[in-house]
Amino acid sequence: MSDPFSEPPPDSVQQAAIHWDEQGQPLSDAFDDVYFSKASGIEETRYVFLQHNGLPQRWREFPQTQFTIGETGFGTGLNFLTVAASWLQQVDDPNARLHFVSAEKYPLSKNDLEKALALWPELSPLAAELTEQYPPPVAGIHRLYLADQRIVLTLLYGDAGEMFTSLKGTDHPLFRRAGNPRIDAWFLDGFAPAKNPAMWSDELFQAIADLSGPGTTFSTFTAAGIVRRGLQAVGFEVQKVQGFGHKRDMLCGQMDEPISESATEKDWLPATYNAKHQPPWYLAPQFKRPKSALVLGGGIAGCATARALAERGIAVTLIERHDELAQEGSGNPQGIIYPKLSNKHSPLAQFGLMALLHASRYHQQFLNNGGSRCGVLVLPETDRDRQTFQEIATQFPPQLVQLVKGTALSDVAGIDLSAETGLFFPQLGWINPPEACESLAQHPLIERRTAHIERLIYVDECWRALDEADNPVAEAPVTIIATAYHSNRFEQTSHLPLKQIRGQISCLPATADSRNLKTVICGEGYLAPANNGTHTLGATYNIGETSSDVRTEDHQTNLQQLARTDATAAALFTSVNPEQLDGRAAFRCTTPDYLPIAGPAPKFEEFLESYSLLRKNARSHIPVASPAWPGLYLNCGHGSRGMSYAPLCAELIASEICREVPPLSLPLRQAVHPGRFIIRDMKRGRL
Ligand code: SAM
Repeated sequence: MSDPFSEPPPDSVQQAAIHWDEQGQPLSDAFDDVYFSKASGIEETRYVFLQHNGLPQRWREFPQTQFTIGETGFGTGLNFLTVAASWLQQVDDPNARLHFVSAEKYPLSKNDLEKALALWPELSPLAAELTEQYPPPVAGIHRLYLADQRIVLTLLYGDAGEMFTSLKGTDHPLFRRAGNPRIDAWFLDGFAPAKNPAMWSDELFQAIADLSGPGTTFSTFTAAGIVRRGLQAVGFEVQKVQGFGHKRDMLCGQMDEPISESATEKDWLPATYNAKHQPPWYLAPQFKRPKSALVLGGGIAGCATARALAERGIAVTLIERHDELAQEGSGNPQGIIYPKLSNKHSPLAQFGLMALLHASRYHQQFLNNGGSRCGVLVLPETDRDRQTFQEIATQFPPQLVQLVKGTALSDVAGIDLSAETGLFFPQLGWINPPEACESLAQHPLIERRTAHIERLIYVDECWRALDEADNPVAEAPVTIIATAYHSNRFEQTSHLPLKQIRGQISCLPATADSRNLKTVICGEGYLAPANNGTHTLGATYNIGETSSDVRTEDHQTNLQQLARTDATAAALFTSVNPEQLDGRAAFRCTTPDYLPIAGPAPKFEEFLESYSLLRKNARSHIPVASPAWPGLYLNCGHGSRGMSYAPLCAELIASEICREVPPLSLPLRQAVHPGRFIIRDMKRGRL
């Protein structure tokens, strides 16, 4: 048996090592503890967690459309499924959402989860939805939607204290409660403190307080002193009450006023301030949840953002300059959900990983319908790649990626290949981007307009969008710019360093042999399996070109790229005449660090003024929160990876606008923040 406490590779989390007792109930090897009461798990959940957080009664009086529960220890998902089933039964409003945010350091394997949940047939419809989307053991934040979006599950794979801390708006001591999402009820369910003291840390109690507000409740099966004292110290009023079954007592209570709320500069300096506390330039500005929003741009970024807002009850005007959606970068017939994993740790690698996993769930419907979850096979371009592939395959779980060698490669691809090794991603594939955009924009709260927006002005707390003739087209308190490389053509966003990069695809007529290709092949370019008799082969990469003509020489480039990726695969198309090929050229929008831009639009001049000390000393202490345009956001800079990146960025922006638990950790939110370039350039003395 594997050592349950051995260090997992950096991006993975260790799966739970469990055994089953004679009644078929799971027990933890590492903690020598039960996942739920042997007497009755569901009854324990109802008594300890629902009843002692005042649920479901509180839902009936709750004014917001979303109720958020935080949990430590997702385990088998029994608490989650029990409370979700209760929500669906008790809450009639189809637009109201239960958001369950649960940390888990040692997730069960999918097989163990299925086996454990088979104990509760009454939960089976929801349990089936959960197991279908259950994420692989990759560290980070995973967001799942169940029951027609009425239930949101955010799984935090990692240590509870660290993961809940990463949801805060900032880690700056002076702003510690600013911009934090709010949890309404806590289910504190790690293993018993005596068996798992590491989880019940001061860091965890502080994060719980920082994410709570007046009226937030908690309950826990334990009555241990360390838990009682920890919660009291951060501001909870704690009661000891009768425990469940044979347990004598348990704890529950509520927050009056979080103690940290009263922190002042004097309280924190200099004892707690240190150089790691960079100015909170990234802190999302707070404003009232809007009733309406404008989204500019009808590609995947705009459509995913419009949909994310509409699902939250916000009326969206989606404005596109072309008559149809997806006419530019999202207009190709086969859009690849494209992996670019790395064996090195970087914000780009981590964001790419999170976005890829999110996209493979998000596009489920489009992968199965119109597209194909056919897998993606990445072939090495260099010797170094071959080495890196080995490392990647050991770093990530096989549900995500597998190293394939020798003849197995051709079995996976369905055609002969010259390559000797490759990385196979079984859960990925291709979608039809125009169909996906069209389907995302079909929502009763999304109204479509055709207009070319040239200017945005802020009048009476609303953004007014003006067309080429300076006529107003629409207005709303919130506007999201998702117009790819056009995103910096507005006065407010002209500082953004966006690059326009031309890419041409070639449409290759399928041959009898090429039709056997059953997975996407990626290397220098990519080749997709035939769809309606045509393969998409892509794509060229030309900086600084603005013409969208389809060119023969670019078809040649695509064919040459394929030949360099795999000569045998390319030989399937030797009879192709590049002069007779169809194709399509469009423009990617990239950024200097290849990360997308997602978040509030900074006020450039005020950034320069507020953070000017950074020019002299990159570690200056500047306790000034982000000067941002009220209600103006950006979702752009996705390069060639719009299908993978845009949905997660849309979810991030919608979560920020509605002040929900974000789908990305604080470091990754900083990494995609639109203000990062200004800060970086000031520190480097370039601004
Ligand atoms: N709520 C679960 C359910 O409904 O099945 C049962 C939770 S079980 C009693 C405790 C869970 O806490 C285990 O799944 C365990 O892996 C997890 N855990 C232990 N230490 C942790 C830590 N430091 N951070 C996050 N989760 C942890």
